[in-house]
Amino acid sequence: MSAAGRRGLIVAIDGPSGAGKSTITKLLADRLGYIHIDTGAMFRTVALAASRAGIAPDNDASLAGLCADLEIAFVRNNGCCRVTANGEDVTDAIRTPAISALTSAISARKVVRDVLLRLQRHMAREGGVILEGRDIGTVVFPDADVKFFLSASVEERGRRRYLELKAKGQEVSLDETIAAVARRDEQDSGREHAPLRRADDAVDIDSTGLSIEEVLDRMESIVRERERAFPGG
Ligand code: C5P
Repeated sequence: MSAAGRRGLIVAIDGPSGAGKSTITKLLADRLGYIHIDTGAMFRTVALAASRAGIAPDNDASLAGLCADLEIAFVRNNGCCRVTANGEDVTDAIRTPAISALTSAISARKVVRDVLLRLQRHMAREGGVILEGRDIGTVVFPDADVKFFLSASVEERGRRRYLELKAKGQEVSLDETIAAVARRDEQDSGREHAPLRRADDAVDIDSTGLSIEEVLDRMESIVRERERAFPGG
């Protein structure tokens, strides 16, 4: 989509699991006054609905029907983004290790990707948005105004996810969590449709050993510079 007709920039943030995308995207969106679209949460919501309906991850016909009946929305509540599925708040239910693993399988299905691709483009059509995911800069918005590829070492990402899960009271081990992150990397990078891949024109940000503030400052200054060149900006 060209810049004409939009009211603001489209910023894409891609990267592997646990690189800090969600935290960084939320804070960056707050700083910039942009809308935050968490595409991983959308895939997770489909996975949760499939699991509840007893649909196997390779049953494309049933997945297509499920997606057609599923209304996914982001709702602001006390300044925080909640995800709803047909009106039900599923924000916490989509974050369990079981749903994470199922999401990787479900998100490899083209039927699911096609539906969510259309929805993501529709949600972001006016600009002034940051989308985070795996294929935003390569497939969903190849012409995004700014693209970031946010990564960190697999050990650091596993450790962060482990601390997050522990804080929520979930019983997990550090080694298992690092192994699960590595497995998801492999699945997300190796799949046929829209694999996790860095866009050629993305700005690389390796957050290993960096504070959130340091990462944010760097990204904000890049977006601000691009804003100055935006028509009407
Ligand atoms: O970002 P998050 O960890 O919530 O994403 C959950 C899963 O959704 C990923 O492991 C990946 O399989 C899938 N996903 C995707 N494409 C996106 C965003 C997420 O395939 N744009």
